[in-house]
Amino acid sequence: MKNYEIRDGKMTLDGKPVQLKFGDLDQIKVLRKFEKLSRELKEQGVDLEPTAKTIEFHFNCLCGVQRSVDVDADFGYEKHKCLHCEREYYIESDNYDNYKLYLIEK
Ligand SMILES: [Zn+2]
Repeated sequence: MKNYEIRDGKMTLDGKPVQLKFGDLDQIKVLRKFEKLSRELKEQGVDLEPTAKTIEFHFNCLCGVQRSVDVDADFGYEKHKCLHCEREYYIESDNYDNYKLYLIEK
């Protein structure tokens, strides 16, 4: 996965401006995040353009299977299920691009 970012209304890849390419799944992913964030800010009455980016996070499940997930830095946390043993995790992020992994107790 590529590290796209939308900041100040422009899409960048690894910090460099890029052209929008029709059908690029990574670009579509970050555009969707951008739209969702824009909508949420509007609903909260905040007049601000959001920054959206794709971030990949790797971790090893307790069963030993490695997982690679797309983390949405702007949403706090999401649940991620190991497809092998069905343990569930969530990844929490602060606003400084630091991530912590938690196992969800059943
Ligand atoms: Zn597992």
